Amino acid sequence: MKLIILYTFLALSALSYLGFKFFKNKKRKYFESLPKPSDREDLLNKNFNIYRYLPENIKDDLNKKINVFINEKHFCGCKGLKITDEIKTVIAAQACLLVAGKPDNYYDKLISIYVYPTAYVDNILRENEFGVVTKFDEVRLGESWGDGSKVVLSWASSRSGGLNHSDGKNVVYHEFAHQLDQEDGRSDGTPVLSRTSSYAGWAEVFNKSYKQLHDDLSKGRKTLIDEYGATNPAEFFAVVTELFFEKPEKLYNKNSDLYDELKDFYNLDPLEWLRKSD
Ligand SMILES: [Zn+2]
Repeated sequence: MKLIILYTFLALSALSYLGFKFFKNKKRKYFESLPKPSDREDLLNKNFNIYRYLPENIKDDLNKKINVFINEKHFCGCKGLKITDEIKTVIAAQACLLVAGKPDNYYDKLISIYVYPTAYVDNILRENEFGVVTKFDEVRLGESWGDGSKVVLSWASSRSGGLNHSDGKNVVYHEFAHQLDQEDGRSDGTPVLSRTSSYAGWAEVFNKSYKQLHDDLSKGRKTLIDEYGATNPAEFFAVVTELFFEKPEKLYNKNSDLYDELKDFYNLDPLEWLRKSD
């Protein structure tokens, strides 16, 4: 009897999960089918510089993702910031570019984006190996919560990241790369790859490149990859994602294996967009 109740419970849970997925996908298809607002093209051309270099098919995919993102995620203004369509669109465009080549990825775990006007101060509690806890303030431009439910961003930095597409820095790309990394529940610099057979190649290239960055820094060599990437493998993945979209040619020339791994993962080729625009 107990087994029958258990199996019934499991079957009902599976059915309600499938039903939830079905309606969520249906809703997303509806949002994707909506025409983009008449001012979006102009807004993106003015505030998201890389947009003008994107091939038409990527622009279409990106706009569909932006529709879903804006309708599905909750934006919350902090420190008196009033959330506008411009703020939503500029942040959504940068976040969604990372998944424009991934038809089924809509940052499923993400619920809310908290936006501060500028850099914000976070109160940090850190425990050392002796159990001593220190409290300090840290100035931040953004962060992605470990469970993936929340991203915090500075609007000033998100805006300048959209305006400058080639300085190698973009806080939205950085935090949403963390989101992708955290999809499997771990923040370890290895996101979920499309094929199981890809993990060995990914590990080889990323471990080698991460070690190379540490070696270069310890010898005082100038590096293309920002030294913040040497903090841990998760930060390395977020920092090289910024480079992949912002300085694809330099990254390819310096480390084509790393570029190719990111190209496979994102299913996008920024080098090609910029070459075609020459
Ligand atoms: Zn980070």
